[in-house]
Amino acid sequence: MTIIEKQELKKAIELEINSLTDEIINIQDSLKPIKKDCSLDSIDHKMLKQEQNINIQRLDESKRRLNRLKHAYLKVDTKEYGICKECEEEIPIGRLKLIPESEYCVACMNELGL
Ligand SMILES: [Zn+2]
Repeated sequence: MTIIEKQELKKAIELEINSLTDEIINIQDSLKPIKKDCSLDSIDHKMLKQEQNINIQRLDESKRRLNRLKHAYLKVDTKEYGICKECEEEIPIGRLKLIPESEYCVACMNELGL
């Protein structure tokens, strides 16, 4: 991987971190508790609950991805970055651009069932 490619990846990770942080704030905003005594009937209430559960899952997933991205960001300048943890081959740059936090190449990821 060239220095320029690493710089590009760092920028991409930064942008991703920023948009993910915004998303997390938005989801947290939408997770305000449902009032019990409002005029909703039980079906509406159920739907709201379901929606909330989906948002909680999204929030969880977003937070985990944010952690992975922050971790990747700190690692971009190290030698291990972009090297598959399993087969120790270089992860193709195209894949890293798409998923900068990748720690495995596609073949190993499939093999490991990740
Ligand atoms: Zn591999």
